Amino acid sequence: MKRVYITTPIYYVNDDPHIGHAHTTIMGDILKRILKMRGVQVFYTTGVDEHGQKNQASAHESGFSVNNYLDQKATVFKSVFEKLNISFDFFVRTSREGHKNYVKQVLDELFSNKLIYKKYYEGLYCLGCEQFKKTSDLDENGLCPDHKKEPEIQKEVNYFLKISEYQSWLINCIKKNKTLIQPTVYQKEVLAMLNEPLDDWCISRPKSRVTLGIDFPFDSNFVTYVWFDALLNYISNLKLNFEGESEFNNYWANLIHLGGKDIIKTHCIYWLIMLKILDLNLPKSIQIHGHWVGKGGIKMSKSLGNVIDPLKLQQRIGTDAIRFFLSSKMTNKDSRINPSLIKSCYENDLANNIGNLLYRACKFTLKNFGDKVPEPGDLIEREKILHLFLEKILKVNISQPSLKISYELANSILIIGNKLNKYFNDAAPWKLIKGKNKEKEVKTVLYTVLDGVKVLFELAYPIIPNTANEVLEIIGANRIPDRIINHNIQVGKLKPGSKILSPKIIFPKLV
Ligand SMILES: [Zn+2]
Repeated sequence: MKRVYITTPIYYVNDDPHIGHAHTTIMGDILKRILKMRGVQVFYTTGVDEHGQKNQASAHESGFSVNNYLDQKATVFKSVFEKLNISFDFFVRTSREGHKNYVKQVLDELFSNKLIYKKYYEGLYCLGCEQFKKTSDLDENGLCPDHKKEPEIQKEVNYFLKISEYQSWLINCIKKNKTLIQPTVYQKEVLAMLNEPLDDWCISRPKSRVTLGIDFPFDSNFVTYVWFDALLNYISNLKLNFEGESEFNNYWANLIHLGGKDIIKTHCIYWLIMLKILDLNLPKSIQIHGHWVGKGGIKMSKSLGNVIDPLKLQQRIGTDAIRFFLSSKMTNKDSRINPSLIKSCYENDLANNIGNLLYRACKFTLKNFGDKVPEPGDLIEREKILHLFLEKILKVNISQPSLKISYELANSILIIGNKLNKYFNDAAPWKLIKGKNKEKEVKTVLYTVLDGVKVLFELAYPIIPNTANEVLEIIGANRIPDRIINHNIQVGKLKPGSKILSPKIIFPKLV
């Protein structure tokens, strides 16, 4: 069976989980469920990055011991992801011994191969990014564009990884492999970054400044730079979970990274070169998405008070509605999120479109034919057109798993919902039933709608798993088990005579 390995970035624990973390991690879950329904075995990881100066500072501020702080934060992230029904297979913590040992092993190897050297360095340092900056990285006022802060001059001795010699290799590689970085707009951005000379990468921090990190195996005065350590989680995860090379290779051969646009430099430049140096295959693709912005396109921040807490939102609209909003409203660029957009998605897309369809179809069937799925008669042109339409959507090829597939799925759901509502309205069984000898035709219409609802919610399962299963149960179809591998969705497979339950309002009015 084909194997795919999906990763999210690992998140800094100096912050609480916000809607951005929820989005990337939900998208990975949706992609995993889509692939599993197509018979693919998926290993999906997400988790936390527990090292570096920022985490160290937050731990100190918290008043707890560092380990205690890290445990608490890891628990918070994990439980938020669980509450959002995200089926990760492994929750990454970079404080695990197995991970630390792997990082040390890599450092030792690179050092003995003379790929790491020590030098005195003077540079501009942004604490927010935990990165040295070039003047070309800064905005017109000399500030870090992400943190709007002036970087400080940092003078120290550090270890560097020889990456500059791989610059032209990387440029060629990205130009040749058009699907490596998706969507294309970010591929262009990476190539633009690579127009500037690439310096060797500073991969250590002196302990005088940072202690929360992995000890340098060959120099006890230093810890490993947090990003160098964090990126290696993608390898150590597989090593910690699968014994033997063959399973490692099976998953590694189909590696897909997900992440926001803030991680392109680390993933599309440093990480790709690290893999080249370590002689590992490059990922199948790095899938990048934009950020969520508040009203008026303003970046969300605590000080502006426009940050969205995923758990508060969950209390208001429920897990599945959050999952649906995030997958249907993200575009290639930054996308807007605010209470009125969320409300309109909930009411128009979910309650009035697919929720109402289910309710109407079940109510009408129960009222006129009892609690059984009606036996359809002959299909006429109307039904045949609808079937062709559904079959076309079911045929969508996903041999190249991508974020785009998850976004497109959400929109297909809405298109199917609209189509089925229109079919129901045009066929108007409430009028038909008043005519003589029309019972068979009415039953055909109801069967077609209920079977369409089955197709719609089976397709929607990766995005709204709980709601989909509730609906499938209501219309007398089988639930999709969480451990599903391979579920062939087909038109016309709802069994006539199956028991229909009294419909509930799956997306009740917001108070
Ligand atoms: Zn910065």
